[in-house]
Amino acid sequence: ADTTVVIIGAGPAGMSLANFLQRRGVGCVVLEMRDRAYVEGRQRAGVIDHRAGEIFAEFGLDGPVSGGGPVETLLEIRTDGAPRLLDVPALAGGRPSRLVPQQMLVRRLIGTFLEGGGDLRFEALDVTPHDLGGDRPRVTYRDTDGVEHELTCEYVAGCDGFHGVSRRSIPDGALTTYSFDHGIGWYTVLADSPAPRYPLMAVSRHGFAAQFARGPRASRFYLQYRPGDDPRQWPDEHTWRQLRLRLGDESLPEGPITGREVVEMRSFVAEPMSYGRMFLVGDAAHIITPMGAKGMNLAIADAYVLARAIIDGAGLDEYSAVCLRRTWDYQEFSRWYAEMVHDAGDDARSGPFRRKLALARLDRLFASPPAAAAFADLMAGTEVL
Ligand code: FAD
Repeated sequence: ADTTVVIIGAGPAGMSLANFLQRRGVGCVVLEMRDRAYVEGRQRAGVIDHRAGEIFAEFGLDGPVSGGGPVETLLEIRTDGAPRLLDVPALAGGRPSRLVPQQMLVRRLIGTFLEGGGDLRFEALDVTPHDLGGDRPRVTYRDTDGVEHELTCEYVAGCDGFHGVSRRSIPDGALTTYSFDHGIGWYTVLADSPAPRYPLMAVSRHGFAAQFARGPRASRFYLQYRPGDDPRQWPDEHTWRQLRLRLGDESLPEGPITGREVVEMRSFVAEPMSYGRMFLVGDAAHIITPMGAKGMNLAIADAYVLARAIIDGAGLDEYSAVCLRRTWDYQEFSRWYAEMVHDAGDDARSGPFRRKLALARLDRLFASPPAAAAFADLMAGTEVL
């Protein structure tokens, strides 16, 4: 074969897997349809949980890749303007997460892989896997000059996100898929305005809002919007007014808004996460809402399980089952979290009874150390194997 593993997609899943394999001397080729600047500029997630940090450390990548970012300390949950703080790393037994923006992580993973002599091909067009059910799969693609290429390999890693070609190339009927719309609208803006003191979630009658650091002078805000509303039509002044109301902070510093996006609050899982010699990794197999910040961390954890199985030459049969256990655990966590912070503020969405339940769920985090520890354990990320 031309290489051991062809990896389709150079996002967090593909580049984590590529680096893990490279560090253990397993050959791989990464095929990415976009150019390098595009991939390295894609701003999405912001947190590497403690478990993902441990995974990078196991491969000696904590220095070059996941190190250096500020360590998370407290989480602020503000209810109708009243702040309460949770020391999540301490509650998780001293396991802090790190603030590492996704584009920085991907840039570092690409740099480290290429410095190590890795084979990463950008602008690979019409990537198509073949013969996945046999012993010798192939992947074909076209370069920007229109020249066709073919790579034979032992395994194909489908790391090409939710809209990629990998999952689609699995025959109909081989996968069971689960989709769920959480019925919540979320609008996110990226602004050049000072980062909050701590990651901030705000529950209020005006709707949910959150603010997270994306570097010292940038914030990502999230705002719930009501069904039927179109927040892309909101003038920026309205966005800031809503944020001041929901965060209960009349003096919230404003700054130029540099990005506006509607976030789909949707979950999806494909089972199993493999077909023949193709393994689906990260968003190619599952997407999760941003509540709990698990999407990128799931991608890294999947990549770890697959890398270990290929390196050890054992455990590939278990890959899907191991990853799905954690995927469903995190889906449940994300749903639990989303329900709590949205229902607690919003009678219109869920009615007064569910609002009271959500407030009780929220209060329990501050009243019961075991409940808080269970929450913090999931925030820190759970053991993979
Ligand atoms: P992707 O990042 O989608 O990477 C897939 C790669 O494959 C891309 O480079 C793509 O160009 C390439 N590709 C696609 N199709 C092909 C093809 N046919 N051929 C070749 N290459 C292809 N997660 C969190 O943990 N915390 C958060 O706070 C968070 N916030 C988010 C906010 C937003 C607005 C969004 C959209 C997502 C957020 N996520 C968050 C989710 C997180 O970004 C994803 O879970 C993560 O990017 C998954 O990584 P991945 O490598 O599996 O997929």
